[in-house]
Amino acid sequence: MRKPLVAGNWKMNMDQNDVNAFVSEILDKISANDVDVMIAPPALFAAGMQKSFGDKIRVGLQDISAHDSGAYTGEISAEMAASASIQYAIIGHSERRTYHSENDHLINTKIQSAIKHGLVPVYCCGEKLEERESGNHKEVVISQISEALQGFSEDQLKDLVVAYEPVWAIGTGKTATSDQAQEMHEAIRNCLSELFSQAFAEKTRILYGGSCKPSNASEIFSQPDVDGGLIGGASLKVDDFLAIVEAAK
Ligand code: PEP
Repeated sequence: MRKPLVAGNWKMNMDQNDVNAFVSEILDKISANDVDVMIAPPALFAAGMQKSFGDKIRVGLQDISAHDSGAYTGEISAEMAASASIQYAIIGHSERRTYHSENDHLINTKIQSAIKHGLVPVYCCGEKLEERESGNHKEVVISQISEALQGFSEDQLKDLVVAYEPVWAIGTGKTATSDQAQEMHEAIRNCLSELFSQAFAEKTRILYGGSCKPSNASEIFSQPDVDGGLIGGASLKVDDFLAIVEAAK
């Protein structure tokens, strides 16, 4: 049985005052449940938030370096994150692919680094609008996954989370229909089964991301291969985010 995960990606939003208010409000309102909850704030706030959350909510980074340490100005390594009790790292988000030219080869090295230091990689994949319109969406996503996960053993990827995020649905207000999400999640699970094993595919969590909100979360999460969500805009408000967490129960 896969435990659902709802993960928030704050992107470059929220300042220290907003963070303080969000943390105290969510700690007041969150109830113990059968859903794992993770929030990836701007890196500056991650360690402090994890201290405040204790075991109730996990904090992740939105990206990590492929390197452990050294002359890489502005970067944060998986080793540093782990030393600050951070447990998750989003890797390969489409905004990193678009604005920082990340490709699946680099993403593969970032996943290696996450695993080496015990972080759970939340690997993002997803097709662009033109790729969906030309009917190539499955091939595109399967080739992203095959390259990003090349060379790993099943055991190394035991905690892997895959986030399917159609690029045309991120921050646009356009959500994939639940059928479109299910079709792609099933294709991703079949791909994991071919690359590794059926048992591996069956235990790996696959999240949906792309304009997920309280009004559409239940329907998307009710699909058999959808194990929760990666939530951008709707993770910035405690009530919206917790409503999505509820929908994943
Ligand atoms: C995201 O950034 O991963 C995302 C899914 O954003 P949004 O929910 O705002 O579309």
